[in-house]
Amino acid sequence: MSKLQILEFPDPRLRTVAKPVQTFDAALSQLIDDMFETMYEAPGIGLAATQVDVHKRIVVIDVSEDKSEPMVFINPDIEVLDGDPEEMQEGCLSVPGFYESVTRIPHVKIRAQDRNGESYEMEARGLLAVCLQHEVDHLNGKLYVDYLSNVKRTRIRKKLEKQHKMRA
Ligand SMILES: [Zn+2]
Repeated sequence: MSKLQILEFPDPRLRTVAKPVQTFDAALSQLIDDMFETMYEAPGIGLAATQVDVHKRIVVIDVSEDKSEPMVFINPDIEVLDGDPEEMQEGCLSVPGFYESVTRIPHVKIRAQDRNGESYEMEARGLLAVCLQHEVDHLNGKLYVDYLSNVKRTRIRKKLEKQHKMRA
């Protein structure tokens, strides 16, 4: 397994709309394992392939406390169900060091495929539901900072650009 490099906002590659996965082979499985390793090491609770510059519709999530519930969502199709909008603090491995409030309905139905191409569907609530919406947004080239005010988003962008310059 190997750790992958995570793209950081405002990298324009994060705006790419990912394409459906059509081949379920060993290379896909390897990529999924590498994504889990990258996510766990970061550490984070979710990672979309877009974030590691692979523009395919793949999401990995583990919202457990002890890394015991790895979940794979390939070609996810998400439907937000009825419920009261809730404000939650969101962070993102592509926007390191920032946590901001985002309002979402934490109740979704998701249809996806596993790493073998088997279709399944499930309902999710709470943190998992929010995380799924956040990760599927990535596959559509969208970031959680898009939900913030222009002022906030610009402040975050400038701070990160400064860090990127110092690192270069
Ligand atoms: Zn993210």
